[in-house]
Amino acid sequence: MKYRSTRSNTEVTASQAILKGLSDDGGLYVPVEVPKLDKTLEEFSQMDYRQVAYEVMKLFLTDFTEEELKRCIAGAYDSKFDTPEIVPMVKKDGGFYLELFHGSTIAFKDMALSILPYLLTTAARKNHVKNDIVILTATSGDTGKAALAGFADVPGTKIIVFYPKDGVSPIQKRQMVTQRGDNTFVVGVDGNFDDCQTGVKKMFNDKALGKELAEAGYQFSSANSINIGRLTPQVVYYVYAYGQLVKRGELKAGEPMNVVVPTGNFGNILAAYYAKLAGLPIDRLICASNENKVLYDFFVTGEYDKNRQFVLTSSPSMDILISSNLERLIYMIAGCDAEKNARLMAQLSEKGVYQITEDMKKQLAPFYGNYATEKETAGRIKEMFEKEKYVLDTHTAVASAVYEKYKQDTKDTKTTVIASTASPYKFTRSVMNAIDGKYDSMTDFELADELCRISGVTVPRAIEDIRTAPVRHKNTCAVDEMEAMVKSFLRM
Ligand SMILES: *Cc1c(COP(=O)(O)O)cnc(C)c1O
Repeated sequence: MKYRSTRSNTEVTASQAILKGLSDDGGLYVPVEVPKLDKTLEEFSQMDYRQVAYEVMKLFLTDFTEEELKRCIAGAYDSKFDTPEIVPMVKKDGGFYLELFHGSTIAFKDMALSILPYLLTTAARKNHVKNDIVILTATSGDTGKAALAGFADVPGTKIIVFYPKDGVSPIQKRQMVTQRGDNTFVVGVDGNFDDCQTGVKKMFNDKALGKELAEAGYQFSSANSINIGRLTPQVVYYVYAYGQLVKRGELKAGEPMNVVVPTGNFGNILAAYYAKLAGLPIDRLICASNENKVLYDFFVTGEYDKNRQFVLTSSPSMDILISSNLERLIYMIAGCDAEKNARLMAQLSEKGVYQITEDMKKQLAPFYGNYATEKETAGRIKEMFEKEKYVLDTHTAVASAVYEKYKQDTKDTKTTVIASTASPYKFTRSVMNAIDGKYDSMTDFELADELCRISGVTVPRAIEDIRTAPVRHKNTCAVDEMEAMVKSFLRM
């Protein structure tokens, strides 16, 4: 199976798409056709996570051998996860919470970033790459740490992470700046996530810079969710969740389910859409936004307009005005017309706005968008804690609040899976403040201990590890200095 850029008709293999991250024309790689699942839903219900991962990923990464892919999967989904199930699912207040946060950095990014280094180094061998691979990453908080953890000390790679200096949670920041590994480099940017992402994309598209890098023995690749090596591992857990619901007797094989996804860059929900196109019986894809509700407005009006105030919320990993992966959906609903898509993306970068046609909008029917305000999000955390003694993180709480709105709006009571994207321990202050104002004066680590006491959930290793770890990364830069930082780290 081949991959095609969303902005031209260049075709590459899966391993080439993983290596490059972004196409030279600025487009994203998409499968020429989304492959169909070739195991039955009953068969999936009998498989463990690693088996489902193989059966799903083999369809997308067709130039990996069975042995290569199984080695990648075994290396990724092991005791780095604090539960043998890898992704447990719990029923709370009428929804199934798929806990995607049991990996080494306690956010769902681990699901893809624990396997990406394996996929990437395998792809490099396959394509006889001699250069060192430089992973260039912009993060709204969670990708950065998960990518650092995945790539630290991986031979033949270096990783550079840019994060918005004042736009991540204290725990997220501490996780990143304490990262070990001589091949790691972490920089706080004086700007927001979109500035970081735009700066990184610019470097990717800079041909002169690419040439300089090659002369120095390097080439860029991306660990952002624009890389299809990130997207395909995310299709897996929707298939796995469905199988588990069948196994538990909550769904009859073939019966539709809904999914709710707290959305930022549109990667996670796009993976759910790919699962649907692959034949998984998903009915509605419920796209949950925080107060940066560009996507909600888009689903209502068909106009994508990023010209608005950027809001810093308590769910920072969703504080995004340019959802990169939406381009893959736009391309599809434009009838896989690269020129038409490229025109819309050019309007986005020039004017910050584009409008899709009625015909394209019709194809968005499986999607439902809504959003939760800061107050609604905090209210939902408190409500869930009081009802179920279950503590939601702020991102999952946005999804949960939107799910409540969805049920009110539509009266749809179908079995619903909520992608639970982070451990509450990653956003302890916001979570504890939502439960009770009295916690305000405690330090972050005192709050973690208190959260443990009220929830009965042990403090994760990821938090214990950073209590005492020394700060190793103190670099900061202005938006227009990002390239200079890269060059200085690579001694160019
Ligand atoms: C990245 C992230 C999201 C958003 O996921 P996208 O794939 O970017 O839409 C939501 N919640 C958490 C905790 C995240 O880390």
